[in-house]
Amino acid sequence: VTNKTESIIEQTNRYGANNYHPLPIVISKAEGVWVEDPEGNKYMDMLSAYSAVNQGHRHPKIIEALKEQADKVTLTSRAFHNDQLGPWYEMICKLTDKDMALPMNTGAEAVETALKAARRWAYDVKGVADNQAEIIACIGNFHGRTMTAVSLSSDEEYKRGFGPMLPGIKLIPYGDLDALKAAITPNTAAFLIEPIQGEAGIVIPPEGFLKAAYQLCKENNVLFIADEIQAGLARTGKMFACEWENVTPDMYILGKALGGGVFPISCVVADKDILGVFNPGSHGSTFGGNPMACAVSIASINVLVEEKLAERSLRLGEYFKAKLKEINNSIIKEVRGRGLFIGVELHEAARPYCEKLKDEGLLCKETHDTVIRFAPPLVISEEDLDWAIERIKKILS
Ligand code: PLP
Repeated sequence: VTNKTESIIEQTNRYGANNYHPLPIVISKAEGVWVEDPEGNKYMDMLSAYSAVNQGHRHPKIIEALKEQADKVTLTSRAFHNDQLGPWYEMICKLTDKDMALPMNTGAEAVETALKAARRWAYDVKGVADNQAEIIACIGNFHGRTMTAVSLSSDEEYKRGFGPMLPGIKLIPYGDLDALKAAITPNTAAFLIEPIQGEAGIVIPPEGFLKAAYQLCKENNVLFIADEIQAGLARTGKMFACEWENVTPDMYILGKALGGGVFPISCVVADKDILGVFNPGSHGSTFGGNPMACAVSIASINVLVEEKLAERSLRLGEYFKAKLKEINNSIIKEVRGRGLFIGVELHEAARPYCEKLKDEGLLCKETHDTVIRFAPPLVISEEDLDWAIERIKKILS
């Protein structure tokens, strides 16, 4: 007899495109930091859907906003106004202290939007000659899977068979100020950076880099664009990861937890002199700014702020990191992170350890082969965190 989990995995493998390699677990229910499979086994979620569920699974206030909005209106398209978009605009602008925002749905779409804005800004404001605008990004980046995003990537497997790639992109080593200096030309529109590289394995830039890079951009009239899709919205112990170096980027790219893991919504936020380059007809999305997404996002931001999840992430993250550093095992190369955004880099493949952790009731996902990422929902209790630490110690000791 096959159980429900096995038959669902079989069905998924039979009919689904093979573009993912998930751990062999089916989740059919979730609440807070806990998820459950169809057989009723409970697991702690230590991934938070790549930081989309910072507020915890099915946060009651976010679910309430979803249900209330579902009973009113779900989609108008941008052919008409809806009554949730205005309040959402004001909220996201006040949160980031910027003039204007542009909502999309997925992270990759927001990255596309940011680069379109930066290119048009280069032509219309900076005065770069037609079709000459350049974007500088970082080796090891992850900005999504659309053609623009994979064109930015330094990972050959992300690009293989998908060419030709988008032109006008230069890559520099992450955290290398001299390389940035050398890469900037009069045609440079923007420098795009993850303030902490998530998919690369929770890679933190050298201290002072973000600040110095920002200043260099200012000196050269280059936009500093922060992809805070994974690191932002309280994950690293600050509302935005750029705050770790007191940098206010020219443009924020947000996604994931912006919709509390309940409804997809992403956006770019910037001042008028930058985002003002868009005019009617130049950009858009049928679902972008829809009332469901906006209502859910307003509730999601409120939860981050009201429950002080950035402070919580900082405090619990320090505690968690210290406990992980106590583990004495030569397979561990490094424990690093900020807030509850922690990577344990091993000298060997991380996947077998993720599989063992799963058997102990802890769901983690390896990233870039040798790193285990620990990123629980930020609402995690100290008791639950201790429960996790006990199991991690058992597997990694
Ligand atoms: N940018 C960063 C930093 C990310 O971590 C991700 C997703 O992991 C993306 C962009 C792409 O977001 P999405 O998968 O919603 O397109």
